[in-house]
Amino acid sequence: MREVVVPGHGTARTRWITSVGSVAIAAALLAGGHTAGAAPAPAAGTGAVATHEVEYFDGPGATPRHKRVPAEPPARIARRQAPGSAAVPAASVTPVQETGPVSGRLDLVIMGDGYTAAQRADFRADAQATLDHVFAIEPYASYRGLFNIWLVDTASAESGVSGDPTAGVVRNTALGSYFFCEDTERLLCLDTDKVTAYANQAPASDIVFVIANSAKYGGAGYSFPTPPTGASYHGVATMSSDNPQSYLIGAHELGHSIGNLADEYQYAGYGAYPYPSSESANISVTPDLGTGKWSRWLGEQDPTGSVIGTYEGGDYYETGVYRPTSTSLMRTLASTEFNHVGREAMIKGFYAYADGLTSTVPSGTRVRPGQKIAVSLAPVNGLSALRLTWYVDGKQVARAAGDRAVTPAALGATRSGQRVTATVTDTTSAVRDPAVRAATGNSLTWRVR
Ligand SMILES: [Zn+2]
Repeated sequence: MREVVVPGHGTARTRWITSVGSVAIAAALLAGGHTAGAAPAPAAGTGAVATHEVEYFDGPGATPRHKRVPAEPPARIARRQAPGSAAVPAASVTPVQETGPVSGRLDLVIMGDGYTAAQRADFRADAQATLDHVFAIEPYASYRGLFNIWLVDTASAESGVSGDPTAGVVRNTALGSYFFCEDTERLLCLDTDKVTAYANQAPASDIVFVIANSAKYGGAGYSFPTPPTGASYHGVATMSSDNPQSYLIGAHELGHSIGNLADEYQYAGYGAYPYPSSESANISVTPDLGTGKWSRWLGEQDPTGSVIGTYEGGDYYETGVYRPTSTSLMRTLASTEFNHVGREAMIKGFYAYADGLTSTVPSGTRVRPGQKIAVSLAPVNGLSALRLTWYVDGKQVARAAGDRAVTPAALGATRSGQRVTATVTDTTSAVRDPAVRAATGNSLTWRVR
C-alpha cells in the first residue's frame, strides 16, 4: 500500500491507495486548524498515480509556490533509470557526525544524485558545503549537537540530472531527479521510493537532504506529517549543488518538517483566512495583543530586523491572519533568519526528536549502590544552556548538580528500590513558553538493586 497525504481546506487527509487507480480507504482526518506547510490545493483527482505535495522556489527572492507532483518521474525519464522503484544497490554510509544514539538524536541523511562513482569526492565536498551553510543559521548552529548526520553514497550511471539545462535532457541517475517537474523549470522532483530505499540504509532517517549535481537553481520540499510507506523520515528537501542559494531551501523546509512552522507568505488574491485557527506557532488568527501565541515576544527586536508584532498576511492568505515579523526565512528565501517565534518552535521540534541527556546505562534498569552511572549531555552550545540535576526518590541532590558520573551510594541511595533520577533542562533564553521549556527536558531513572 502506498500512503498519500492530501492537504486541503484545513485538513490533511491520508489516503491509502492499494493499487493504481483505486482509493481504498480515506481516513485519518485531522480536524481543526490549518496544517503547517500544507497549501490549499485542488483535490487530488481520481488518484491515478501516487502524488506528493511539494513546495518550490522560482528563485531566491521569488514567492514560493506549491504543487502536487508524482512520486515517480514521468515515463520518459523513468525509462532511463535502473528498473525497480524500491530495489537499489547497497550504498556506503558514513557518519558526518554521530553525537549520540539514534534514539536520542535527530537523524539527518544527506545523499546525492547525478554524481557518478568517480565523482564521490565532489559529492562529499558539496554535502559538506550545504551542511556548513545550513548549520550556520540559528537555531541549527547552536543545536547541531542534537543531530546525527549520515552521508549515503549513491552512484549514478550518468553525471548531472534530467532537465538540466533544458526540459528535454534525460539522464540515468540513482534517484531519478529532474528539473521541469510538472512543467515547472525550478521544481526539482525525484523518485521518493528510491530515496526511501537509500535512506533506510542509514542507521536512522528523520529528515533527508538530496543534493543534485547541478548548477541550476532549484529544489523542492516534501513534507510528510506521516512518513511515506516504508520510510521513517518526515521531510525530503531537494536542492542543487552549485547554486549558492539552494541550501536555504533545505533550511526553510526543516522549518516545516521539524518546527511545524507555517509559511509566512501570502498569495495575491487569496483574501481572508478561511480557517478557525492554525496549528503553527508562527501564525495567529487574532492580532496578538498580549495574550496570543507570541505574547512573550511582543516588542522584542528580532534577528530578522523587525520588532516582533502582528503583521497581517501569512499561511497563504492576505487578511485575518497574522505573522510575528515583517520578513523571515519562513516568508522568503531572501531572508536567512528565523524570527524568535520560529527559533523557539524549531528548538521544540529538535527536542521532539532528540534528548539532551543520554546514558549507556539504560534508564529503567537496576544498578548496584556502588555502580557508576555515567551520563552524557548533548554537545549543544550558543543559544543552548543545558542544566543537569540529580534526584533520589524525587528529592534533589544539590551537591551533585552537573556531575556527569555518580554512584547511587554517593548520592545517598543505598537501599534496594530507591530511585536515582537524572534530569536535564535547556535554560536557553531562546525559549519563553513554559510548555516548550518543559519539552526541552528529559529524565533517566534507575533503581537500586
Ligand atoms: Zn514553506
